[in-house]
Amino acid sequence: MKPTRREFLFAATSFALLSRYAFSQQTKPTRVILLGTKGGPRVGEAGRSNPSTLLLINDIPYLVDCGYGASKQLITAGVALNRLRYIFITHHHSDHNLEFGPLIYNAWITGLPARIDAYGPTGMSSMADSFFNYLKFDIDTRIVDEGRTDPRKLITTHEIEKPGVVLVNDDVKVSACVVRHPPIKQAYAYRFDAKDRSVVISGDTAYAPELAEFAKDADVLVHEVMYLPGIEALLRRLPNATRLREHLMAAHTLPEDVGKIAAQANVKTLVLSHFVPGDDASITDEQWAEGVRKNFKGRIIVGKDLLEI
Ligand SMILES: [Zn+2]
Ligand SMILES: [Zn+2]
Repeated sequence: MKPTRREFLFAATSFALLSRYAFSQQTKPTRVILLGTKGGPRVGEAGRSNPSTLLLINDIPYLVDCGYGASKQLITAGVALNRLRYIFITHHHSDHNLEFGPLIYNAWITGLPARIDAYGPTGMSSMADSFFNYLKFDIDTRIVDEGRTDPRKLITTHEIEKPGVVLVNDDVKVSACVVRHPPIKQAYAYRFDAKDRSVVISGDTAYAPELAEFAKDADVLVHEVMYLPGIEALLRRLPNATRLREHLMAAHTLPEDVGKIAAQANVKTLVLSHFVPGDDASITDEQWAEGVRKNFKGRIIVGKDLLEI
């Protein structure tokens, strides 16, 4: 018997609703949580921890950078350390990798994470090996004494030699792009294209038009930022001021240029993070955003630790 038009429409609508329901049951929305927003290696004051950004894609944690404090911030954000699955290091300045080894150790000691894949520039495996060597006594003791697994088998490192796609799985495609952070040559930005959202993390970079191309039409761009008047105040207190100023100007991005990148990339939301200086509480949100707004008319979020976007 042929279905009537009404029966047919009813069946088609039910099917569409059911498939949408099935999709939303299977895939959790992509979340971005800033764990640490203070640029630079000095341990944070003024409420900002050192750099680290968390993405939860279909509820699986992807951590970009492990500045000092990353383990603690992950727990505060509600992610048990043994859930850690993917780590991405943008470059080997210590504000981005100081807690790489300790984080893996903390995940291990929390109990049986399945596997951690860590991506980053050349040096990832020697960093992991050196850390395990540093803690050899403790690790070997605990394996025998407490019947633990060997953490050295827990981690797989992937050294990114050239930019492009670095990881594809059922939930996301992750790509890397070289940014401008002299004198470091292997400094990467990462782009996460999930089913529901695309997110780009700039890493540390000076103004880089190629980053705008890489971040084209992304939903969220998390970009580093440096505020010149704040730098000048900071430099007045330091003996190595001249060299440090040269490094900062060559390797980081001023608000006006962050705005240019966001506008060229046509991103929906721009999130400022990796604040330099990140421990000067006298700089207001408006001061951070003011220069950016001159060139970018989209949504601007002045990042805070543990803020979810
Ligand atoms: Zn940095
Ligand atoms: Zn850096």
